[in-house]
Amino acid sequence: MKFNAYLFIAIFLMAARSYSQRADEPNAAAILLELQKCANMGSVLYIAAHPDDENTRLLAYFSKGMKLRTGYLSLTRGDGGQNLIGKEQGDALGLIRTQELLAARHKDGAEQFFTRANDFGFSKNPTETFSIWNKDSILADVVYVIRKFRPDIIICRFPTTGEGGHGQHTASAILAAEAFTAAADSTRFPNQLHDGVNVWQPRRLFWNTFNFGELNLTSPTQLHFDAGGYNPLLGESYGEIAAESRSMHKSQGFGTPRTLGEGYEYFKQLKGDSARTAIFDGIDLSWKRFKVLAPLQRQINQCIKNFKADAPEKSVPALCELYKKLLQLNASNYDETFYKAAKLKELQQLILHTSGLWLEATASTLSASPGDTLFLKAEVVNRSGLSIKLNKLLYAEQGIVYSDNTDSTLSLSLKAQIDYVFKHTTKLSPHVGYSDPYWLRLPHTSDAFSIPKQTMIGWPELKSPVNITFQIELNGLELKETRQVVYKTTDPVKGEIYHPFEIIPPVTVELLQNTIVVTDTFSHEISAIVRANSSNQQGTVHFYVPIGWVLSENNIPYSLKHKGNEVKVHALIRQTSQAISGKVSASLEVSTFNRPQEVKRYTKSLHRIQYDHIPDQFILTDATARLVAFPLQRKDQKIAYIPGAGDEVVPCLRQLGYSVTELTNEQIANSDLSLYGAIVAGVRAYNTNEQLQQHYEKLMQYVAQGGNLIVQYITNTRLGPTPSKIGPYPFVISRDRVTDEKAQVRLLHPDDPLLNSPNKITAHDFEGWVQERGIYFASNYDTHYRTLFSMNDPGEQPKEGSLIVAPYGKGNFAYTGLVFFRELPAGVPGAYRLLVNLLSMPRNE
Ligand SMILES: [Zn+2]
Repeated sequence: MKFNAYLFIAIFLMAARSYSQRADEPNAAAILLELQKCANMGSVLYIAAHPDDENTRLLAYFSKGMKLRTGYLSLTRGDGGQNLIGKEQGDALGLIRTQELLAARHKDGAEQFFTRANDFGFSKNPTETFSIWNKDSILADVVYVIRKFRPDIIICRFPTTGEGGHGQHTASAILAAEAFTAAADSTRFPNQLHDGVNVWQPRRLFWNTFNFGELNLTSPTQLHFDAGGYNPLLGESYGEIAAESRSMHKSQGFGTPRTLGEGYEYFKQLKGDSARTAIFDGIDLSWKRFKVLAPLQRQINQCIKNFKADAPEKSVPALCELYKKLLQLNASNYDETFYKAAKLKELQQLILHTSGLWLEATASTLSASPGDTLFLKAEVVNRSGLSIKLNKLLYAEQGIVYSDNTDSTLSLSLKAQIDYVFKHTTKLSPHVGYSDPYWLRLPHTSDAFSIPKQTMIGWPELKSPVNITFQIELNGLELKETRQVVYKTTDPVKGEIYHPFEIIPPVTVELLQNTIVVTDTFSHEISAIVRANSSNQQGTVHFYVPIGWVLSENNIPYSLKHKGNEVKVHALIRQTSQAISGKVSASLEVSTFNRPQEVKRYTKSLHRIQYDHIPDQFILTDATARLVAFPLQRKDQKIAYIPGAGDEVVPCLRQLGYSVTELTNEQIANSDLSLYGAIVAGVRAYNTNEQLQQHYEKLMQYVAQGGNLIVQYITNTRLGPTPSKIGPYPFVISRDRVTDEKAQVRLLHPDDPLLNSPNKITAHDFEGWVQERGIYFASNYDTHYRTLFSMNDPGEQPKEGSLIVAPYGKGNFAYTGLVFFRELPAGVPGAYRLLVNLLSMPRNE
């Protein structure tokens, strides 16, 4: 019985999905598909490194065509990539991509898993990857997910031999191959056993070879099959479902066309007993796999045969019968226990779906804070008119049923088509945790996240901490069905919208600058917004600053009466000769009413992430900013910025004292650009703003008349054509990059005016850079251009295209792949000094 308890927990959690959206009530075709899936036993786990690596056609084919339990293990949440839809980077981007993966899985029917690995950005080979990731601890996570999911087959997207490019890709295959063996070995990671999982030997490991156009690694001699097929129950082919699924990766611009007709998938076997004709050769995919379950196969087949699309509720008695029989079976080993629990869970869903019972749990507000009063609503509708009883409602918070005896015992026979609403008022425990993403709650390093317990390994997210369990009875069977509490609202344009219910701090504080750059001895403003998320919030704002800084005032009082009220507070800060760079943080300090000597501190900022294709998200971060002091000379000039895909360069320039205007296309076309000493094009502006090609002549004229035009990196990828007209003389955007942020930078011409005025640039200015040096370097540049730096990743040839500059008429043009957009927000002094020199290039008279 010990096994049973663990397994129920494991399976309950595996079913965790994007809980925020309306519970998808399946139609008759979807229920039939669910029934067919329940009649199968097999499972397959796909393993790769990132959101978007997965083969969504194959996942859709396995899940909805072969009707197997299908999973995708992405080692990372894609935290280190670029964001095509907004400004979120790092942890926030990883959160968006987690939700995009869940949305994709919602389309293709697979389950989603992760390891704790943090996507630290591009790496060229697995040696580089494992110099950052602790190989053993990521391997442990892959093993844990395999032991939890127990796949018959594991499939890697990439080979172990490097043809997958990115070092994290190759690493994912190396880890899958090692985990294939380690998962079955009780001496490997023994502390996992009896913590929710048991040893498991998958039968085979394959590499799903690919044909990426320029690189075709498939071959007719490899095992292959057609995964294109058509599913009449869904009215779609797997290529169409795959496109819907893949198109969820919107932050990466992966809108994908639907494909129809055949689509072959190829496989090379890496481990396990040899498969001759098919990857599942010799694996029993029916209930007959287990002696104890075999007798029930006929019954489930009968349920499929008797299913009536126009009256699914007629299946309820037979499904209840099957459920009871399965419940009574004695499983003799872990494997049987695992499948018994999984099938009971599936049958429970089938009984509810065929019965047409509607269950919902909502809160009257989007958010609440620990200790707040909560108004909950449970709603039940017996839509089929079957004989169903609602015996009890159980209200719970973070898995703990309220002890204040508020559970309602009802024993109510549910009449057909009556909307039963049960209102319930309760108080959230003052100790309830916040509902921010669980992997971001503890501080983490650049290589991995920290999570509170081992059993959370693999989870894509946590369910809402507040839920209602409906205890219902039908056909002599009592079932407990839990609904996470959500918040429901109606938008006049979008209609009904479901939001995840949030538990957030009663008061939050946000510093308005992430990085405060001080290059003089004047006073600079430091400001914060204090926001009440619960009513009647009062206290003081305290700023903590490093040694050598002087604040004009501190302990600034605030008083906010209503939830949603906010106030801006600010102080002035100035450096003395002893000032050191460091961290400034804001803390809200609240005296407890009856114990004035006790001070409660709130130090979190709340950031919301809202996009239409994923449920609303939020993250809590420490209310801190970098405070950086360094010497810098600059000319007083007006700057214009052409926004690109989204970056934080403008506020950084404003902090230096520049007046910066963000130009619209209309302003580029119709305003007098000669007002500006320099114009800077934001990252990927030439990729995202097609009209820039039409402004080419005007921009060149601006340069010819004495302006400086600085273009930040432009991509050369499938995302769109590379523009042909950028600078006054031709150059090509290459895919050259230097990913090692510590790579040596050699100054080719230390005497070049650009490296001497107004700031002297030396190798020291390339110290402390973050993530990488540069991307999409220029190549094949015209001889009018000069280069200034040479750099390369370890083991590679020197590259000079990180910055190319040419005088043109009275002005200057520069293209740069150096990642100013990363270094400026990170407060890297050298990046500021170099960019200021570019802005200040003198006129060529
Ligand atoms: Zn990838």
